[in-house]
Amino acid sequence: MFAFGRSHFTWNGTLRELEGSYAADCTARRRSSMAASPSAVSGLEVLISTLQVEIKTNRHIGLKAEAAGAVLPTLNLLRDNSKHARRASACLWVIQVLSSTGSTAKLIGERHGLDIIYCLLPHYTTRHLLTLKAALHAFAALLHTKANVCLAVSKGYIAGLLRLYEDWHSKDGQHSATAICHALLRCLHEATHRTAGRKAVMSQGGLRILYQVTQTCLSSEGLESLLEPTVQLMRKCLPKTRVPLTSDQSAYTFPLPGRPHSVPETELASGGSSEESDDDEEADDGREEDNKDDDDDLETDVSKLRQRPDPDRPKELLSQYGRFCPEFSCDFQEDLMSEQEERSTASSSSSDKDAVFLTSVFPHTARTNGRRNSSTCELSPSLSRSHSETGMSTTAAALFESHSSSSVLSSSPGARTAARQATKEAPRYQRRDGRDHMDKRAEQSQRRTMMDLLLERRRACTPNHEPKLYCSAAAKVRSIPGFTILAFPDFWGHMPPPGCEPMASRKPDIQRQKVLQDVQRFLDAEDVIDRVVFDLEDDTLQGPADSLWFFSKFECGNLRKAVQVRRFEYDLVLNADANCSQHSQWFYFEVSNMAADVSYRFNIINCEKSNSQFNYGMQPVLYSVREALEGRPHWIRSGTEVCYFRNHFYPKRGRMKASFYTLTFTITFKHSEDVCYLAYHYPYTYSALKAHLNVLQKSVDPAQVFFQQQVLCCSLSGNPCPVVTITACPASRGMKDMQQLRDRPCVMLTARVHPGESNASWVMKGTLEFLCSCDLVAQSLREAFVFKLVPMLNPDGVINGMNRCDLNSEDLNRQWCKPDHVLNPTIYHTKGFLYYLNSIGRTPLVFCDYHGHSRKKNVFLYGCSVKETLWQSGSDVDTVGLKEDPGYRTIPKTLDCIAPAFSFNSCNYLVEKSRSSTARVVVWREMGVLRSYTMESTYNGCNQGIYKGFQIGTRDLQEMGVKFCQSLLSLTRDTKFVYSRSLIKHVDFDHNVLGHRSHNCFEDDEPPLIEDIEYSTDCTSLEGADLDSDVNSNMASADDEGEGDEGHTATKDCRPIAAVGGEGLHIPSNPVGGGSCLAASTPAATS
Ligand SMILES: [Zn+2]
Repeated sequence: MFAFGRSHFTWNGTLRELEGSYAADCTARRRSSMAASPSAVSGLEVLISTLQVEIKTNRHIGLKAEAAGAVLPTLNLLRDNSKHARRASACLWVIQVLSSTGSTAKLIGERHGLDIIYCLLPHYTTRHLLTLKAALHAFAALLHTKANVCLAVSKGYIAGLLRLYEDWHSKDGQHSATAICHALLRCLHEATHRTAGRKAVMSQGGLRILYQVTQTCLSSEGLESLLEPTVQLMRKCLPKTRVPLTSDQSAYTFPLPGRPHSVPETELASGGSSEESDDDEEADDGREEDNKDDDDDLETDVSKLRQRPDPDRPKELLSQYGRFCPEFSCDFQEDLMSEQEERSTASSSSSDKDAVFLTSVFPHTARTNGRRNSSTCELSPSLSRSHSETGMSTTAAALFESHSSSSVLSSSPGARTAARQATKEAPRYQRRDGRDHMDKRAEQSQRRTMMDLLLERRRACTPNHEPKLYCSAAAKVRSIPGFTILAFPDFWGHMPPPGCEPMASRKPDIQRQKVLQDVQRFLDAEDVIDRVVFDLEDDTLQGPADSLWFFSKFECGNLRKAVQVRRFEYDLVLNADANCSQHSQWFYFEVSNMAADVSYRFNIINCEKSNSQFNYGMQPVLYSVREALEGRPHWIRSGTEVCYFRNHFYPKRGRMKASFYTLTFTITFKHSEDVCYLAYHYPYTYSALKAHLNVLQKSVDPAQVFFQQQVLCCSLSGNPCPVVTITACPASRGMKDMQQLRDRPCVMLTARVHPGESNASWVMKGTLEFLCSCDLVAQSLREAFVFKLVPMLNPDGVINGMNRCDLNSEDLNRQWCKPDHVLNPTIYHTKGFLYYLNSIGRTPLVFCDYHGHSRKKNVFLYGCSVKETLWQSGSDVDTVGLKEDPGYRTIPKTLDCIAPAFSFNSCNYLVEKSRSSTARVVVWREMGVLRSYTMESTYNGCNQGIYKGFQIGTRDLQEMGVKFCQSLLSLTRDTKFVYSRSLIKHVDFDHNVLGHRSHNCFEDDEPPLIEDIEYSTDCTSLEGADLDSDVNSNMASADDEGEGDEGHTATKDCRPIAAVGGEGLHIPSNPVGGGSCLAASTPAATS
């Protein structure tokens, strides 16, 4: 005898039992009048309860059922019991469970399973809710396969589901059947996973229906739970739209050595591969990656972890790097003299360049490659373009106003008059093209006057920033488009605003609001303008008078196109990294012609990363020229209603499956007629670095500080990549002091291999300034170490406003294993220099590469440890015998004590296979540098320590650069150094560190948002029915709800009928679809 106990369950056994119990009835002949016998039903119930267990352990239950020939009998049972609500429910649950297997769902579909179930779906009723719910969930489960969706579409079932949803929603005034609405939505969600389903929803006016439903949901309590799935459904159905570009390919192309000029248009791959690995060295992005077992990526090959690979080049090539150790060859006596000379020539040459700067040459529109900026630069066109009515340039206007307002730039009346005079006399001119030469000359002299006046009156003096020096540096930069225009903030300088900037609070339903606005934009085209107002590739395009004006053709600038979509709303498209069609994330552009106190919505529509700190309190940064002229030259965190979500755009030539994300934010400008700049993060240009190095060089006391800038190599487009040596001059030229100099360990610091990570440059700026300062710790550090710094490993990427790559469209931080000397010169030579130091026995004590991290908060280090990697990976390699110096933890532990933004808990020391060609891993493995790190700084802010809840600013980033240097003191055991003793006492040297295990660096450290940020095609809030409780409540019902007697159907989700109101308790005779409806023949009870 067959045992129904769950542990003895077999398909064949159960089916046999079922068949046996009603074999006589179960024939096609009598099907129409058949109902399963009581014993069959009890068998069915047991089958169901067994399935609940089975489904949890066996994902292939459908296959088993197919093999046992159990699928079609189940369908027959449903057909035969359709008048019997409780039995029908049971069958529907079985079908739902079996449909979790694709082939089974398909089989059921082929055998008219969809038709049978669809016929059970009535218009609004208060009866048989449990059965109805079971039917909808079974229907949804069937729609999991493409074939069934196509079937449902062809039979008009999608349209029917929409009408049903509308019907249920409008008639269910008491909200007693929201479970049914949810189930209907779930069917629609399943259907819209497929193109055919989405098209059906759209063609049936589904978007409008759903939109109207959301409007009622918004206004009535008790329906909130329907909002999210409805909104997600709409977002999914919005027709996929190509980004408004002629090509995904970057507007900037550069002929690579040895390659044909044109770069083929590559498709954006879909899925995981379109997700670049992140802007960070350490974080693989994307849901797919997140779901993988990250431990798989850990290097578990002990020989790879411990053996040093052969050098990538012959030894003979290393001697060339000897020149980057000038401290060894330097005769400090003579050097002092020559340096003074150099400084005087440097200053004279820079004044020559100032003169050059003040001549104004408008940019050429032709795209030339790696062109040197035409030796002159001017401020951006909005600051100089003609103001149609007044004939004044905006700069002039801004100046005029700032000079005439007495509060600002307090100046002598004479100077003020001069400025006013200058602006009034500024000649009219056409913008850029077709300008008259005479006008130009006159204007040049005007500009000179104005600029000088401006600079003379400049009260707020940014430390270590000299605008004129900046201009002369910028004039020498080689950019792909040949920039001739400076962005005002870079020229004028930035000072951190006073006070801290808290993270922006997020409205709980902001994403929903934004999506609804987007849907509305689609539904009501009336107020849609859709007008291109800026195009990087079309210099003739003039911004219309009634729109904002945009511009981005300057160093680090990135904006490809701006489209005014509604009066105060703009879609912005970013330029892909040069020579490729991907990696858009970084932005920096100018905006003008605004009105004050108006809310402008900006949507950056082609972001590529799947999530962003913009969802967790981060804001973009804004710089106002007027504010700067009034003495507040600050990049400020700005923007309200900041939100980041997946949108319906897809690449011009890529597959539709690849999707983009929208960063949306709203800006209310303080001043009308201002010129403002918006950026992803605080910009830091290549010219800024060059100018900064020159300022530092001038600032140090050459008798104390040895500071030397050299050119490591030139980048692909010919920009010098600086390498800087900083150390203390020897106390004397005596043997002992010279020996001490030669014995100082090296510390090598690099930054900005990823151009979009401008935070890394601010950290480096802090490091450089500190090392050049008179601070006693800095002095100790200079006496203890020789610092070798390569502050910008990717000048070309930075200059051309790229986010991730170099001109070779490669991530330079994946090239360290075998860098190409032609294509990756900066990496090739930095590595060569490290080899050289290695070869002369001066391997750096510390190596650190500064980065920015877009998905995490705080600042933290990644290091390398064999033991921790093996432990974390669960490797069975015996690590007891492995010797490893735990000294790699000293710096992180010190930083944890002294740096407020630093988070020790976010650090890890794992060696991943996917990172085997990063600076950190290669320098550790190939050079044997124990303390080889990546330092990641957040773009957002901190969630611990005294900066908790605040966004990070340039002050904090620079401070981090200082703290990193200070932490190096913990490595100098020689306590004669000032302060080191007090510093070191905080640091528990290398003790008790082995008990700690690295945190998994791949995990986002964000708590789930209150609002469901739904990026996949699944809607988590619509997860299937709680089968367990539904089944149990169905079983528990003592009353075998027979025909016309089901008043006791009480479930968790559907309120008891009695509570509903008691009217219309019947299944309608005319259910949707109208086909042969078995349910319709159910004798309806009238109460
Ligand atoms: Zn990075």
